[in-house]
Amino acid sequence: MTGSGGKHGKGTRLVEAGRRKEWTGPVVNPPVWRGSTHLYDSEAERKAAIGNNRDGQFYYGRRGAPTQWALSDALTGLEEGAAGTVLYPSGVAAITGAMLSVLKPGDVLLVQDNVYEPTRLNALGLLKTFGVETRFFDPFDLDCFGDVFCDKTRAVMLEVPGSLTMEICDVPRLAAIAREKGAVSLIDNTWATSLGFPALSHGCDIAIMSLTKHVGGHSDMMMGSASAGERWYRKLRNTAQALGHVVSPDDAALALRGLRTMGLRLERTVDTARQLAEWLKTRPEVAHVMCPLIEGDASHTLWKRDFTGGCGLFSFVLKGRDEAARARFVDTLELFGIGYSWGGYESLALPFDPASIRSATPWPPEGWDEADRLGIRLAIGLEDPQDLIRDLARGFEAMDQE
Ligand SMILES: *Cc1c(COP(=O)(O)O)cnc(C)c1O
Repeated sequence: MTGSGGKHGKGTRLVEAGRRKEWTGPVVNPPVWRGSTHLYDSEAERKAAIGNNRDGQFYYGRRGAPTQWALSDALTGLEEGAAGTVLYPSGVAAITGAMLSVLKPGDVLLVQDNVYEPTRLNALGLLKTFGVETRFFDPFDLDCFGDVFCDKTRAVMLEVPGSLTMEICDVPRLAAIAREKGAVSLIDNTWATSLGFPALSHGCDIAIMSLTKHVGGHSDMMMGSASAGERWYRKLRNTAQALGHVVSPDDAALALRGLRTMGLRLERTVDTARQLAEWLKTRPEVAHVMCPLIEGDASHTLWKRDFTGGCGLFSFVLKGRDEAARARFVDTLELFGIGYSWGGYESLALPFDPASIRSATPWPPEGWDEADRLGIRLAIGLEDPQDLIRDLARGFEAMDQE
């Protein structure tokens, strides 16, 4: 299946995606095909299979079986313009696997300054040892973006919104400039998914997601994906095969199960996030709310222009509080767990300080009071909005009681 997008609505596409009869048989979902060895009927069949490295063909467990094929087929179908999707054991494996697919020693990689921290660290660590040089750029300075390129620039890594600080950059414009300059553009599209932001049709070459988040949706599995048109898909697939990347059929089945309800969960968490973000804006303890979903946010205009959805992940910055006060706040919360990740059915709160992971843009941003710098990221789950608001209100109360 190639990414076809538009024929049906989002809900219908999520229900139909990847459910080929040859994989499901007479039941609704593809069974969990646990297998390493695939048995051949004859020596002639085994020999014939050797040169055949096509998708959806039995060969050996490392190339998957119908459970994994159904998941990658489903994700391809949901990403307009994709020829195929490679699955990885985590979102980070997808990011690094995609980077290794497009870069070689001597290349220069451009990375958006507000990317996910492991993306930054892998560029400065693993990729550096392989002879790739990374330069970080300010994704909001469109006028200067072209000047960041040199004749060795091979790839541009984007992410919307930026991790933790939640700013949306002009992806179609940045991707178009990258293409003009002969560079391949990769984007971490975990936040909105292909449902809320069709990354390839906005000009990106490779769309990456951590499936751990919305596709899994239940905080019980880890996986990543990269989808691309024919040219880059081949590269992704060859590199993933060389690295021996394979995902378990059990996890693929969990991801397929999560995928069916992803649209509903995203809509619900967007609704709740909007209510909470608006409420936080009214609180005297809060200096800034960073949520592209709400009117008045610095990223709202671009979100409205380019996105058809989002999710319940957003951040806010405390007004002049110290770390001890912030700790009292999160320690008091009962419905928000303290932890990494997001996209599960349960809400989370994560304190963050981005100053040490920005090099091309300032933190706090220009015009903000220096004292307003300690952030908290909220991942909104499926709880009732009023209960979450009450929980946060209790947290604020405890925050200022030393
Ligand atoms: C969590 C996350 C990842 C990494 O995904 P894992 O599955 O945890 O490895 C990548 N990008 C973003 C934006 C994330 O939030």
